[in-house]
Amino acid sequence: MTDLKKLSLLKTSSYINGQWQQGKADLAVVNPANEQTITHIVNAGITQTEQAVLAAQQALPAWRAKSANERSKLLRRWFELMMENQDELATILTLEQGKPLAEAKGEIAYGAAFIEWFAEEGKRIYGDVIPAPSADKRILVLKQPVGVVAAITPWNFPNAMISRKAAAALGAGCTFVVRPATQTPLSALAMAELAERAGIPAGVFNVVVGSDARAMGKVLTQHPAVAKFTFTGSTEVGKTLIAQCATTVKKVSMELGGNAPFIVFDDADIDAAVTGAIASKYRNAGQTCVCTNRIFVQDGAYDAFCAKFIAAVKQLKIADGMQDGSQIGPLITRSALDDVHKLVTDSVQRGAKIALGGDVDKAGHNFYQATVMTDVTNDMPIAKNEIFGPVSPIIRFSDEAEVIKQANDTDVGLAAYFYARDIGRIFRVAEALEYGMIGINEGLISNAAAPFGGVKQSGSGREGSHYGLDDYLEIKYLCLGGIGAKT
Ligand code: NAP
Repeated sequence: MTDLKKLSLLKTSSYINGQWQQGKADLAVVNPANEQTITHIVNAGITQTEQAVLAAQQALPAWRAKSANERSKLLRRWFELMMENQDELATILTLEQGKPLAEAKGEIAYGAAFIEWFAEEGKRIYGDVIPAPSADKRILVLKQPVGVVAAITPWNFPNAMISRKAAAALGAGCTFVVRPATQTPLSALAMAELAERAGIPAGVFNVVVGSDARAMGKVLTQHPAVAKFTFTGSTEVGKTLIAQCATTVKKVSMELGGNAPFIVFDDADIDAAVTGAIASKYRNAGQTCVCTNRIFVQDGAYDAFCAKFIAAVKQLKIADGMQDGSQIGPLITRSALDDVHKLVTDSVQRGAKIALGGDVDKAGHNFYQATVMTDVTNDMPIAKNEIFGPVSPIIRFSDEAEVIKQANDTDVGLAAYFYARDIGRIFRVAEALEYGMIGINEGLISNAAAPFGGVKQSGSGREGSHYGLDDYLEIKYLCLGGIGAKT
């Protein structure tokens, strides 16, 4: 049992304008591994969300006016504190989200890397000088922070989905308000505690925690003081929030759902493909937006891949994330598990076969067995929907053109993966896949240096890399006239 009293980063109320909100803590935060209450938080609502927006508005002029170097130093300190407290942050994350502790530590390092990255990138926000069409003018371009940024984030990466946005916003000179998912407020609050210890001024980074997503979301998407809204979550909710942002014409970026194909061609290195598929499918119990959702295997590689893949999946240890060696933790809720199981059973009714797993695991109510399905076709529910669980549907195919057509036959386009050695094929397939990110002979593609984001209904905008700042900057054009030569 974790001794909660030893967790100095365990905070239980919203952090607004550098203050921890007072109130009765009566909203339970539940550990998905055992369904027991970890702690209670003070349930914020519309009023506190408005206060947070106003705090960010008031803090903006001073934060924007700091030099990039000053902001960089504060972000750098925040990064260092995250890494110094990696173990404690990971413990809090595993308790509220369920992922294995080793993975949670990985998420903290991944999340912190964005803060380190944007501490540096913020110093490289360059403008431009463009040759003017007439001799007596000059065209100058400035890049300036958009202003107050509001964010709503999901439960599957309670730390990194916040740091990816907040670090870019703060590095660009914006102030920030985030409302994390109801299931995972504690990781967000722990980040606020470290932001405070790092010396980030009051009002620059605010966290509002509460259960009324709809009402709080309305404030964040419609308040006139918010200049930009950024969301990570499902495509369905994203569409609603984009519509809400239209009323005040906010700058919007969206990181939404995926349905990643993972294609194994005949010329693939099968062992590497098995390793890549395990990493991209079973991480976070299959609850990531870039998780492999459909595995396509070409005829010539099919038998060897299936045999090796099933053998490898069988080895995965399903257990409470706090247990040593756990590789697959619980799903976030019982209803999430029911949704996954329904996709499996509906597809079995349509002719899919269970090669491994296919049911609730003995580890507990919220644990689903590591599952592999064969004889799947691209029109079955398990292939059409984002699974968000530890289930691998395998679809057999014969030729390249056919698999590209099937891989692209979806409204979303976040991540795709394929394994092949032929260089011509690598270029053809990479160019033809309608996805924002492609892993070629690689199952893990996310890092702070790379532009993360999708096409089609997977969203708009990019997080990470030097492109990640663009969403937090406005371009201002200065036309300087009257420069003509003196006679
Ligand atoms: P979700 O239902 O869309 O929830 C995401 C966030 O939106 C939560 O904070 C949720 O609050 C809030 N929310 C829900 N309805 C809302 C409303 N009407 N107004 C304002 N806020 C609202 O998504 P999820 O199912 O929890 O998360 C998984 C989804 O996120 C998947 O589709 C996954 O692919 C996607 N995702 C995408 C990325 C990416 O970078 N593209 C990364 C991670 C996850 P409550 O918790 O209170 O419901």
